[in-house]
Amino acid sequence: MSNSEKEQRHQTRMQRKKEVVDASIARADRNKGLLLVLTGNGKGKSSSAFGMLARALGHDMKVAVAQFVKGRRDTGEEAFYRKQGVVWHVLGEGFTWETQNLEQDIETARKGWEIVKTLISDDSIDLIVLDELTYAFKFGWLDVETVLADLAKRPEMQHVVITGRGAPDMLCEAADTVTELRDVKHAFRDGVTAQPGIDL
Ligand code: ATP
Ligand code: MG
Repeated sequence: MSNSEKEQRHQTRMQRKKEVVDASIARADRNKGLLLVLTGNGKGKSSSAFGMLARALGHDMKVAVAQFVKGRRDTGEEAFYRKQGVVWHVLGEGFTWETQNLEQDIETARKGWEIVKTLISDDSIDLIVLDELTYAFKFGWLDVETVLADLAKRPEMQHVVITGRGAPDMLCEAADTVTELRDVKHAFRDGVTAQPGIDL
């Protein structure tokens, strides 16, 4: 095949691709508040959610964060977003193997959900990150149906991002956008401790 034939073929193929892409862009003409789920065992769930938070702030949107499992309190994202005046709730005590008290975990999660309900009924908030919420389902602290029913009542244009491993099927079915991050390798298993700026 001559170079000009190759060029012609490439152009035809790209033209066809452009028509397909343009048609799908034209089809997507609706706005709505989205429910997003970031799950799976791979790294990048919370950091992706906090990336969307930065995007939203760049658009002067109002945002809030609720963390369901108290992880480390020295994360860069918490320090950074608090400095930006972002509302940041820590609603969990820690992992269930740390508290070793199911009744207390349930009580903490329920109280936490009551706080989330005040956020999701506030139509001035454009984006809410519910970090590590999936553990509340996994350990039976919260009922996924109740949570979904409450989320369904939120303002029409409010976005909610839920992160955490093992998102229940019912949550993924209800969500608009679901991403499962796959663990290919992680430096921790090679003996590298959590690195500031990367892991915290
Ligand atoms: P990140 O906050 O970095 O986006 P994540 O939210 O996807 O990670 P979590 O399950 O919440 O992951 O775990 C948080 C911490 O554990 C982070 O320090 C992260 O680097 C680390 N981590 C995430 N995935 C893995 C993994 N597959 N193996 C080991 N450590 C992990
Ligand atoms: Mg996380």
